[in-house]
Amino acid sequence: MLNNRNDIICAVATGNGGSISIVRVSGEGAFSILKKCFSPIKRIKNAYQHGRMMYGNVYDANGETLDEAMAVCFYAPSSYTTEDVFEIQMHGGSMSAQAVLKTIMALGARMAEPGEFTRRAFLNGRIDLSEAEAVMGIVGASSQMARRASVRQLKGGVSAGIGKAREELLGLVALISAATDFPEEIDEDVTAARVKEKSQKVIQFLKSASDKRHARILRQGASVVLAGLPNVGKSSVMNALLSCERAIVTDIPGTTRDVLTESVELNGIKLSLSDTAGLRDTEDTVEKIGVQRAKDALENADVVLYVLDAAREMTDEERENLSKMDDRYIVLLNKSDLESVVEFENAVTISAKTGEGVKELTDRIIEKIGIDDVNEDMMTLPRHIECANRAIDALARAIQWIDSAMPLDFAANDLREALEALGDITGESMNESVIDRVFQDFCVGK
Ligand code: GDP
Repeated sequence: MLNNRNDIICAVATGNGGSISIVRVSGEGAFSILKKCFSPIKRIKNAYQHGRMMYGNVYDANGETLDEAMAVCFYAPSSYTTEDVFEIQMHGGSMSAQAVLKTIMALGARMAEPGEFTRRAFLNGRIDLSEAEAVMGIVGASSQMARRASVRQLKGGVSAGIGKAREELLGLVALISAATDFPEEIDEDVTAARVKEKSQKVIQFLKSASDKRHARILRQGASVVLAGLPNVGKSSVMNALLSCERAIVTDIPGTTRDVLTESVELNGIKLSLSDTAGLRDTEDTVEKIGVQRAKDALENADVVLYVLDAAREMTDEERENLSKMDDRYIVLLNKSDLESVVEFENAVTISAKTGEGVKELTDRIIEKIGIDDVNEDMMTLPRHIECANRAIDALARAIQWIDSAMPLDFAANDLREALEALGDITGESMNESVIDRVFQDFCVGK
């Protein structure tokens, strides 16, 4: 970070195309800039109060009115960055915001770097690193559940669990140094046993908090793949789930030649629904490619909906496919509006045509995904999981030293490494390259 933290920074905080644009300015002395380019209408008493919207005009250095606008001041330390901050809301479209920004820069502010407002909130101690990342999580959330997870993170959900783990480890490091300093008074074996037990507990906590599957599903959504022979009603089931007619429904077998993917949100979880080509042996080259893609999609799916046509006997191919099913599978007996000739244990009976059973199916899909929305400690970001894994490895090494009866100092070194890794999650270790990496993905104005 080359730019000075004492500069007054400014940026357009809103995206293109909205009906309002917001310019945000932060830094000591910001309000004197505001007073030079904005005048509230005369009727306002006690203008420039904290958090109070003022209606007025923005104008440039020559006194030319740039726009009608609203302005609001947030006094340090009660602002997003903890510095003096003001925002001007004006009419949308980029011209007005650009003109205002230019005026503000001419009055002494400089353009903010990507994420610099949030970075200041972090450097000034208002939020920690994982909370800063949560801001981006909210902006980029692809489902309501992802948004909820980011809000929890912003409220310190991840930090609290990590903070507790760090405290434990700091306690152990202190214990080891006491045991080495006062060998007569503190029994080394007892200390070693305690360090081992507590380290194992921290490993356990970190492992459950950094579950990769959970994090991926929260962030990107779960993949649900429809499989089954041609004509059993896969496209129709997909349509029923999407409640729209996007997939092409046809009664000529084998015409869905590729994997068709659509997104839908169920109970706040984003699902990518893929309708695959019928899984059947074929000589047709184009269809073969489709079948291969279908197999790949099946392998990577979180949930497989295997569709059977309940109105006709199961084929040998279906029996064989089902003999290979694992616990990701839900078997559907489709076409329940027709006379049924198939039974299958634990299957969901459904009619894509009438909509019967669709609700039960969605419940079963959610159950199968098995994501616990309320677990406060869950990490969602790959960076956090990476740090947690580094800590887990270091703790495992500490335990190994203890198991091979090496001096406790060896274990202490690894405990310190684990502490450092966990400190990278919240930013407490103030590792510049980690901090830079986090903020490089932010947008200007955040
Ligand atoms: P896919 O090849 O597995 O994707 O099957 P489609 O969705 O294209 O459906 C094949 C045929 O079965 C079409 O004629 C659909 O109208 C029909 N079909 C699908 N679902 C049902 C259902 O629940 N009841 C009835 N009666 N027909 C259905």
